[in-house]
Amino acid sequence: MKQLKEILLNIRKLASAESVLHWDMETYMPEGGGEYRGDVMAYLSLLTHQMATGAALRDELSRHIDLKSGEFVNITLSETDKRMIYLTWKDLKKQLVLPDAFVEEMSKHVSATQQVWTKARKNNDFTAFAPYLEKMIALKKREAEYYGYEENPYDALLDGFEPGMTTTRVDTLFGGLKPRLVSLVERIGNAAPIDDTPLRQSFDTKEQWAFGLKIANAIGLDMTRARQDVSAHPFTIGFHPDDVRITTRLNDKMLLSGLFSTIHEGGHAMYEQGLPKHHFGTPLGEAASFGIHESQSRLWENMIGRSREFWDYALPILKTHFPQLEKVAPEDWYRMINIVKPSLIRVEADEVTYSLHIMLRFDIESMMMNGTVKVMDLPGIWNEKMKEYFGITPANDGDGVLQDVHWSFGGIGYFPSYAMGNLYGAQIMERVEKDIPGLWAGVREGKFEALKTWLNRNVHEHGRYYDPEKLIETISGAPLSADPFMNYLEKKYTEIYRL
Ligand SMILES: [Zn+2]
Repeated sequence: MKQLKEILLNIRKLASAESVLHWDMETYMPEGGGEYRGDVMAYLSLLTHQMATGAALRDELSRHIDLKSGEFVNITLSETDKRMIYLTWKDLKKQLVLPDAFVEEMSKHVSATQQVWTKARKNNDFTAFAPYLEKMIALKKREAEYYGYEENPYDALLDGFEPGMTTTRVDTLFGGLKPRLVSLVERIGNAAPIDDTPLRQSFDTKEQWAFGLKIANAIGLDMTRARQDVSAHPFTIGFHPDDVRITTRLNDKMLLSGLFSTIHEGGHAMYEQGLPKHHFGTPLGEAASFGIHESQSRLWENMIGRSREFWDYALPILKTHFPQLEKVAPEDWYRMINIVKPSLIRVEADEVTYSLHIMLRFDIESMMMNGTVKVMDLPGIWNEKMKEYFGITPANDGDGVLQDVHWSFGGIGYFPSYAMGNLYGAQIMERVEKDIPGLWAGVREGKFEALKTWLNRNVHEHGRYYDPEKLIETISGAPLSADPFMNYLEKKYTEIYRL
């Protein structure tokens, strides 16, 4: 077992080095460095792949598990080691089932498709993108066949983001969400609009930066083990629980964008910092899923960061950075940072309409994977669904079917994780409120320690020990459901919009 863990740790070290280079590429690297950086990262990634599929790992692993059948051959394993061995085997199998020729074809097609997509989006030219998307879907179907699935080829892809999640399951969860969400959006649309004039000013970016860091510190991000920098698209990357990086964006016209990016990425980063260090290198030291990661960022950003209690604490501090907000009343501030407005673009969506953007993409992806739709018909289907869910339609495909990068890099199956993050987060929060009766009184005073510690204990420290749905069930005592999220939204927005 010691040898196996050593091999896994060495693989992880290579991956960490590649991550550092990636972080640098997005933050400090001069523009001209892109090509060589690409070469270096591709080489490191090849080394990682070789080690992660190499004879040394396979030999060590086969002492504990039959590599073909997945049956344990070492019967003395503890439950924890069993899970670690199983996950290592599952990850290895996923790498081994793809023939080299397929991996190469996919990698070439991804490069070509990303270039075509960038241009097509700019020119609103879906026709140029369509043949590439068509081939991408064909490749993804082949990939699904290699991985194997029980019911639906899309399941094989979903499993890469949300282990154990299936099309049928997502359908059921979204089915519980959609009617209530559509109705809430409609009621909000008929309510009196909220005035956000105070936000339409210029806000010094140095002050934005200082305030953001103050908040990140306050909610519990350990800045001796993290740092923040600036990038075009905010992200979090963890090299190790003791070295996590976040980025934010700064725009003097968009105070909320930078601030909530910092809180969102701070939530991701606290998860990374809270992962079990003694399992670092093994799968047990990793996050449970993309969706669980997203639950952590959204919980902090939306459920805490956009709560009335949070701003009882934070607004007076914000006003010391921006005296121009001096006259804004707490109640008005709370309402204007929670404005709901159906928008064409997913990444600009508020917490109410966001999940609808995801449902639309889920509908389309599952149709694509099942072959029940022609690629050329996608723009029309997209626009019809926009009308049905939001009551608006894009004027061009750049603001419609072409807006997301995901399909161009082959990330089919990724989108549902974002909405799952909302559901997980709300169900976790229901439990938190029961376990910490003084939660909101604490938040009002800027005390977040109890919540952070609770999340450390109940979410972060489990690493990947549980599949996401099992983790939520373990935490909340109930199967995952859309109800906690919808209850939260309906209560909050009934008040904000005085419905
Ligand atoms: Zn996120």
